[in-house]
Amino acid sequence: MKKKSLIGILLIFFFALPLSGKTAKNAVWIIGDGMGPGIMGMFMQGVRLADLPLYPDKTSTLEKFINSSQTGMFFNHTHDSVVTDSACAATQMACGVTTTPGAIGVNAAGNKVVSILEEAVKAGKSVGVITDSYVADATPAGFLAHVFNRSEKYAIANQLVNSQAQVVLGGGLKYFSRGVNRNLLSKAQEQGWQVVKTLEEMQKVKTGRLLGLFSYESLPFYGEEENYPHVPTLKEMTQKAIELLSQNEKGFVLMVEAGKIDWALHDNEAGPSLWEMITLDETLAYVWQFAKENKDTLVYLNADHETGVPAFHYYHVYGPQASQKTAQGEKLYNGNMDYINFPNYQKLFKHKRMLYFMYPEFKSLPTEEQTPEKLEQMTQEVLGEKIDLHLGQWVPDYNGLVRKVNEAYGLVWATPNHSGGMILGVAYGPGAEEFNGVYHNTDLKRKFKKVLDL
Ligand SMILES: [Zn+2]
Repeated sequence: MKKKSLIGILLIFFFALPLSGKTAKNAVWIIGDGMGPGIMGMFMQGVRLADLPLYPDKTSTLEKFINSSQTGMFFNHTHDSVVTDSACAATQMACGVTTTPGAIGVNAAGNKVVSILEEAVKAGKSVGVITDSYVADATPAGFLAHVFNRSEKYAIANQLVNSQAQVVLGGGLKYFSRGVNRNLLSKAQEQGWQVVKTLEEMQKVKTGRLLGLFSYESLPFYGEEENYPHVPTLKEMTQKAIELLSQNEKGFVLMVEAGKIDWALHDNEAGPSLWEMITLDETLAYVWQFAKENKDTLVYLNADHETGVPAFHYYHVYGPQASQKTAQGEKLYNGNMDYINFPNYQKLFKHKRMLYFMYPEFKSLPTEEQTPEKLEQMTQEVLGEKIDLHLGQWVPDYNGLVRKVNEAYGLVWATPNHSGGMILGVAYGPGAEEFNGVYHNTDLKRKFKKVLDL
């Protein structure tokens, strides 16, 4: 008898193990827009090398998460181009087909294709999208809307309201309240959406459908957040979404976008890009903790594409600061090089606010006050650091100023746009091993379907 029951138990264990280990009830898909390997590396290394009160143990959640997860890399080339945009990338990831840049939820022939969120709804799950840019923007749109071009933002807003989603949170009130959409919010309420516009209103909602539009256009950058106390953070929106979606016994699928990593990278501003990475890191910490406690939740973290491609580099030093000697007095093998000191990271993290917002303030000064000295002084206030920009008699435009700041930090950028570089995908929880290896972003929908058993 004993032997028999032991075999029985072993058999049950044998058959139950692969199922319980590979099928997830819920999925949270976190997308760092524009978050290529370069900025991921700079962020994780910066947390190690700088002294940040936010990270007393000098380790980012991202680093811990990657070390506990399965990791793969994927291509994101489109139907006919090597480099993608956010709309095409979101569509390819969510809908599993190639398409052309600009397309939202349609294939290259312009035909509507079904997204992973729409498939999850068919299976009885609840779904939602969150972004800290605006909800009619390309990434959330690619998961729920179907239009030929991402510029059709009013049509996207209309489709979000008429979608089967339970939760839509972010910025973009503009697209729900003007022109053809001037009555859209009252229609949304008729369809059972609870419409909220502040953090406080959002926190009062305890069940049901939730449409939160917390700013006219995008939500504020990390460096501006303290000026907007009634706007929820990405983490706060994610907490509320999971609270509402997890009430469905059949499970949920939630897409969370940290959208402004991409915007700061487009402007080649490293400090603000790193602070947007902190936004993602804080949100990841919450989602990962939820997944650790609820062992039926898959967490997948990736980017849609790489933006900017930042890196520290070493360079020749000329003039009096050049030294042929090391601290020990030995001659360097190849002198006069600056290999970039660790404190450079400390300096970078002092730069929270976008110079993009400071520069127009400089240009609004009386013409006679728009001097190189004044620009350098205003820039130093934003950087939180007395960095010599070597402007001489030159008053650069915004792009020229950013170039000078990057030179001072020892940073190079490959582009102000997107690259065609490979993207890291990190998976934690049941079915995570499905996301190992090298793949294409159109494989993601199939992988999610398999893990969620859709
Ligand atoms: Zn993007």
